[in-house]
Amino acid sequence: MSGLIRRDIDLLEQNSGLPRESLKGLLTHLFSPDAEDDRQYLYKKARDTAAKTFKNKVYLRGLIEFTNYCRNNCYYCGIRAGNKEASRYRLTQEQILDCCREGYALGLHTFVLQGGEDPGCSAQHIASLVSAIKETFPDCALTLSVGEHSHEDYVLWHNAGADRFLLRHETADEGHYRRLHPESLSLAHRMKCLYDLKSIGYQTGAGFMVGSPGQTIDTLLKDLAFLKELQPEMIGIGPFIPHKDTPFANEPAGTLIQTLVLLSIVRLMHPKVLLPSTTALSTIVENGRELGILAGANVVMPNLSPGSVRKKYMLYNNKRSDGSEAAQHIDELDARFRAIGYEIDFSRGDAPGL
Ligand code: SAH
Repeated sequence: MSGLIRRDIDLLEQNSGLPRESLKGLLTHLFSPDAEDDRQYLYKKARDTAAKTFKNKVYLRGLIEFTNYCRNNCYYCGIRAGNKEASRYRLTQEQILDCCREGYALGLHTFVLQGGEDPGCSAQHIASLVSAIKETFPDCALTLSVGEHSHEDYVLWHNAGADRFLLRHETADEGHYRRLHPESLSLAHRMKCLYDLKSIGYQTGAGFMVGSPGQTIDTLLKDLAFLKELQPEMIGIGPFIPHKDTPFANEPAGTLIQTLVLLSIVRLMHPKVLLPSTTALSTIVENGRELGILAGANVVMPNLSPGSVRKKYMLYNNKRSDGSEAAQHIDELDARFRAIGYEIDFSRGDAPGL
């Protein structure tokens, strides 16, 4: 068994691609409790693959969660419109610029503006936030992660200076998409947004949660096939974690093993992709960030949001925003990376080849 499994991992590493059935067998095996030796083999191949492009460097992105208002009602998300327990906030332009100043002083050269689809935040307002940040910090990259919008708005923000856009597709399977989202949202529209973003010229990020309710090996195979087709510059993968005030309050979280296996498989299938080791991963396991890096990830996104709002951007239970999750504690992050043989890279960290 192990011999065949390792041959398939080697084939993935050589970028030969695997037939669907082989990939299915590989994932099924690697998720099983007794496959630890093969998993370690996979993780090593994945980090060697990352090292070919990124050496032992980890890029940092300063994450600014600028609004938790949202018009949508995604069943998994703690800031969904229907969650009446959420205490809502929206940062002012000055507060956002203060976050960037703080991050810049810490050495960061990429800022990510993330938020719900806030009906109180016009396209024009987002464009002026983008211009203000890019004028104040011309040597920094700016990433938006503000959900689904029109082609026109995406163009407006790109013209204002936004370089990158994160929009996880969440799942590439129609039935699974319906299990996670209300009728008002559609997989077709989310995918259209991703293709729009790519064609406009953003460095684009797609991705999905691991272990979300209704996810199966078959839906994961569709995710992998979709990513192969889209060829995004960034891929965000982290475990689903329930939030107590959502319809999925009692669903189990995604596991460490499944998340690490998928990070590694994605690394082998996309050798040069920018792949974060996420906050969700370090929320389910204390050293999750490091384990993600050791499975082939090469980006982390420390939290730069003002302390007063951090607990309000609660996408899932117990979301971490303290300790080495906080940009203010980059020294701790740096020490953790050094302990596993990695180093922080403070450059903009654009997608290779751009
Ligand atoms: N409104 C933006 C940003 C969403 S929050 C958008 O639509 O893209 C960023 C990501 O957090 C989501 O894409 C989702 O994959 C993840 N997320 C939301 N709820 C989560 C949960 N309960 N557990 C883990 N990840 C979650």
